[in-house]
Amino acid sequence: MSPTALNPIQGHHDSFSLPVANGNGHVKDESKVHATARRSPEGGLIKVESDSTKYEEEGIRAKFTDRGADVVKGADGKFSVKKTEKNYEFFTKSKVGKVGLMLVGLGGNNGTTVLATHLANKHQISWRTKDGLQQPNYIGSVVRASTVRLGIDPETGKDVHVPLSDMLPMVHPNDFVIGGWDISGVNMDKAMLRAKVLEWDLQRQLVPHMEGVKPLPSIYYPDFIAANQADRADNLIPGEDKQAHLDHIRNDIRKFKSDNDLDSVVVLWTANTERYADIIEGVNDTSDNLLKSIKDSHEEVSPSTIFAVASILEGVPFINGSPQNTCIPGCIELAEKHQSFIGGDDFKSGQTKVKSVLAEFLVNAGIKPLSISSYNHLGNNDGKNLSSQRQFRSKEISKSSVVDDMVAANHLLYKTAAELTAETGEVTKKGEHPDHIVVIKHVPAVGDSKRAIDEYYSELLMGGRNVMNIFNECEDSLLATPLIFDLAILAELLTRVTYKSLDQAEGEGAQEPKPLYSVLSLLSYMLKAPLVKPGTDVVNSLNRQRNALEGFLKACLGLENTGDILLNTRIW
Ligand code: NAD
Repeated sequence: MSPTALNPIQGHHDSFSLPVANGNGHVKDESKVHATARRSPEGGLIKVESDSTKYEEEGIRAKFTDRGADVVKGADGKFSVKKTEKNYEFFTKSKVGKVGLMLVGLGGNNGTTVLATHLANKHQISWRTKDGLQQPNYIGSVVRASTVRLGIDPETGKDVHVPLSDMLPMVHPNDFVIGGWDISGVNMDKAMLRAKVLEWDLQRQLVPHMEGVKPLPSIYYPDFIAANQADRADNLIPGEDKQAHLDHIRNDIRKFKSDNDLDSVVVLWTANTERYADIIEGVNDTSDNLLKSIKDSHEEVSPSTIFAVASILEGVPFINGSPQNTCIPGCIELAEKHQSFIGGDDFKSGQTKVKSVLAEFLVNAGIKPLSISSYNHLGNNDGKNLSSQRQFRSKEISKSSVVDDMVAANHLLYKTAAELTAETGEVTKKGEHPDHIVVIKHVPAVGDSKRAIDEYYSELLMGGRNVMNIFNECEDSLLATPLIFDLAILAELLTRVTYKSLDQAEGEGAQEPKPLYSVLSLLSYMLKAPLVKPGTDVVNSLNRQRNALEGFLKACLGLENTGDILLNTRIW
């Protein structure tokens, strides 16, 4: 289809806009904007009145006590529990500044939908559907569309909820400057048309905003993505020298920052799923080896790892939204050395999110899932790429560990490795686990509307059985896009938080403020196979991931995450 056909009334930008956005995207009458896109009041919505929370010119300084318990199992099998307290001070810089969001895979379904959603909200473009006028919004974003229970109104005793985005100063997604790379050089208006995600009447109005945007050329190593992607790879950084590619990407980030007068940049991989990279001693196991392997253009260095390394060396957060092992050990060590931030892997948009909730519900209800069988079919380019075995394998791995921690937490239902070893006499390292399979098929006809079918087969009381089937049909990119905004907003916020321990005496030995640890596991809620600090456990439970995020935002305000004891309702 020609661009003229796409936009039959070029030059007559007949947006059905209600409120009018000015040049910088700020709308005159915020009340007419969808609630998920409204701006916080000047100076913020929340003010904590406490001696331990100080609002300074540069930011918010808050004292926080991390309370826990050390549990030791004695020889008699009994547990000895000691309460622990660690005291910290958090400082959150309040100036957000101008933030750039660079997407790798800008021309894909997610990339085009991110840019289109941002522009529709920024310019308040509404569109006609058969149901009436549709307003732009950020529904599906945890940051923009969910609320946090802050406390109770002392007069009414009712809970008070505030938007999560109002907890601390965060960038508004309308204010991102969005750019990025794609191996397909199609301009963004045509890429949006190719993606077939958004309604025609919206696309038509977005064309004038998107037709001038062309993704930057990118790195293409055909061995890493499916061969069926070769025909769209026409926008490439030439040559095979991986060091030159790294330098090129670093320069792109610097240029994007200076050209747009940005204070900070977040880089996010939403390009095709790659095959797993082999972890090879001497090649990618340490940061020095990885940098040397890039210099030597070693074949096991993937494009996504080049982007991660470029971001780390430029000091900008990098997030991997696909399942492959981009952040191999050498990459994590490099991020640690540079105190740079990384996060990943794989957006948790549909089936896995439901699975992490349902498995937790069953296991915590004392019901024992015996098998979980997941079938997916989808028709978009992601599905086409995943129809190749090595790329599917990356997805299979990232989807498969999602129930592990819930199962391991209940040794009443599932035998531990030690129990199995004692029972069978054969040494086993893995405890009892439900059977778990994942199948993905490419069915072009259904396009971006992914179908996920899950069967949960569980053991009930006295040998009974329960079968639960879920059929989940969802627009893939309309679920992933708000997560991309969340990941970028939260990653940027976390770069502005520093902490110090208050348990060391002032003066000598007292800690200097430090940035958070490089691997941003606080982003786990949005990710299927969360990257965590090496040696620490992955938390897959969606509830615990959400609690961690809320608890951390509260801690930065000096507030306790009181949970649901609701003592006032339990006592006289
Ligand atoms: P897509 O195929 O529509 O888009 C990917 C884009 O990346 C394409 O435009 C392709 O040309 C480009 N690309 C490939 N290799 C590149 C490289 N080296 N550099 C720059 N660009 C490159 O896929 P999508 O639906 O937008 O999904 C993107 C990724 O997100 C996939 O890996 C997918 O598995 C992952 N993901 C998506 C969802 C979801 O959409 N719900 C959920 C979880 C994970």
